[in-house]
Amino acid sequence: MANPRLMLETKLSAGAQIALNEAQARHVGTVLRLDAGDAIRVFNAADGEWSARVVEKTKRGMNVRVEGFLRRPRAAPDVDLLFAPVKRHATDLIVEKATELGVRRIRPVITQRTIAETVRLDRLRSIAREAAEQTERFDAPEILEPLSLAKALDGWDAARAVVFADEAGDDAREPWGGARGRAQPIYEAVRTARPYPHRGDGGVGGRTSAHSPSGPKAEATGAHDADINGALRPLAQPPPQGAGALALLIGPEGGFTQEERRMLRGLPYVIPVSLGPRILRAETAVIAALSVLQSVWGDWRNP
Ligand code: SAH
Repeated sequence: MANPRLMLETKLSAGAQIALNEAQARHVGTVLRLDAGDAIRVFNAADGEWSARVVEKTKRGMNVRVEGFLRRPRAAPDVDLLFAPVKRHATDLIVEKATELGVRRIRPVITQRTIAETVRLDRLRSIAREAAEQTERFDAPEILEPLSLAKALDGWDAARAVVFADEAGDDAREPWGGARGRAQPIYEAVRTARPYPHRGDGGVGGRTSAHSPSGPKAEATGAHDADINGALRPLAQPPPQGAGALALLIGPEGGFTQEERRMLRGLPYVIPVSLGPRILRAETAVIAALSVLQSVWGDWRNP
């Protein structure tokens, strides 16, 4: 089995000796059960991954020495997860699985039907960190402060499309809101639309400029000049990896209210999507939707 990994914020270079903080030392000593002389890997988003060795274990701490360079860092796709906090176990699971599946940021959002449970950010951050160590990432997703849905979308950068998991139809009297107004299946919705890499970059329907720093070259995407839905335009082929930016929005156990659905669907950068004919638990919806996004748009196309 490969050596266990430890994320360290410290600068990593060959020969560097690093004193672990208390939590890290406890993790390495108690959870990973490592002792002086044992090999580990250390990593961070700036310096990549290095082989290292525990050189000293004392009652109070631990020192590791960095040995050789192993892997260059690679960024997670620029995907935000916005999710309504659910029960504690499910919230933990959402953070762990979203980290494994490769999101860059996670924001709890409070919606009208969110069960008002406190979100323990420190707990979620340590879950994200451990999942990052486990899953061979180079960074842990940033866990952002909870915000109301309205605040989270206030001043939203329209270049970051929000993929809105919307299981419901428009008719409040029907189960699931009836058939009218149902969202497009996620695969089609994401495959055929993507955000502009930059707001105002060539304008609506305009071509992507070749100098845009994170944006794709227009000729590489085969993008049409027509736009759909304001910030989105149809794609002949999937965008190149890492092009643009996305967010995924998943609701609480009780779903979004009709008022929230109307508000979301009125925003030009929101892509409502269906995750099929069954109602999924929020945690399942996160995993399922991220799998599709990574396959169609993200880094599953280029392992
Ligand atoms: N509206 C339901 C359940 C909500 S499920 C109820 O009243 O009980 C929790 C969240 O998962 C939803 O808000 C939605 O974002 C997502 N979700 C679950 N199943 C979905 C589906 N089939 N299509 C799209 N989104 C779905």
